[in-house]
Amino acid sequence: MKVTFLGTGTSQGVPVIACQCDVCKSTDSHDRRLRSSVLIEVGGLKIVIDPGPDFRQQMLLHDVRSLDAILLTHEHKDHIAGLDDVRAFNWMTKKPVDVFAEQRVLQAVKNEFAYAFVERPYPGVPKINLKLIDEQAFKINGIEIIPIRGMHMKLPVLGFRIGSFSYLTDFNYIPNASLNKVRGSQVMVINGVRKEPHVSHFSLSEAVEVLQKVNPPRGYITHISHQLGRYAIENPLLPPNIQLAYDGLVVECE
Ligand SMILES: [Zn+2]
Ligand SMILES: [Zn+2]
Ligand SMILES: [Zn+2]
Repeated sequence: MKVTFLGTGTSQGVPVIACQCDVCKSTDSHDRRLRSSVLIEVGGLKIVIDPGPDFRQQMLLHDVRSLDAILLTHEHKDHIAGLDDVRAFNWMTKKPVDVFAEQRVLQAVKNEFAYAFVERPYPGVPKINLKLIDEQAFKINGIEIIPIRGMHMKLPVLGFRIGSFSYLTDFNYIPNASLNKVRGSQVMVINGVRKEPHVSHFSLSEAVEVLQKVNPPRGYITHISHQLGRYAIENPLLPPNIQLAYDGLVVECE
């Protein structure tokens, strides 16, 4: 399995429009973060988690020519805004794209992209197959996906485990039952937005604490804000098995 970090930024991305802070003005490519998303290549399938506002740019940057499925963690705009751009894949493959999410999130997609779900849609709208999931494991072409429940302040969100890769974003609370589902992961990704506490996201130290509970060989932080600091300064301060993810990072696991 190969996982490419398409984006590792929080909802505004980094740099933030008009911001003049050290991180936003950094020339280090590790400090340029599109909205958080990953591409997973496994068993001949290509799966994207969270097509955010930078989806088009991410697909072009990484020369993605086909897509078998999209998984949604939750309905916030920084995780779904790019869905309209699945039109390109519809055109190339002559097929709808399967989008997997829980009931509330599917309803939000229907509301946000209402023009794609009317009875007689305008020609050229995105063609999306909505696929309902819950907390039970499911399969895409024989590949098992295990949803991982967490809380994003008041909003229930889903992370996903595929094989020994776990991806949890926009969590600020993870129940023990969910921790047990990610145990044994070789690679675990979790959101850590900044150093200061945040109302709906794990802070960096909270994210590190969760990673240390699970203790995967490789842990990565994503959904990073410009307030976290520069990669070159902050990354070396982390425990040896934990790193800040960055856009374009590729990890391989079983
Ligand atoms: Zn987010
Ligand atoms: Zn800034
Ligand atoms: Zn969110």
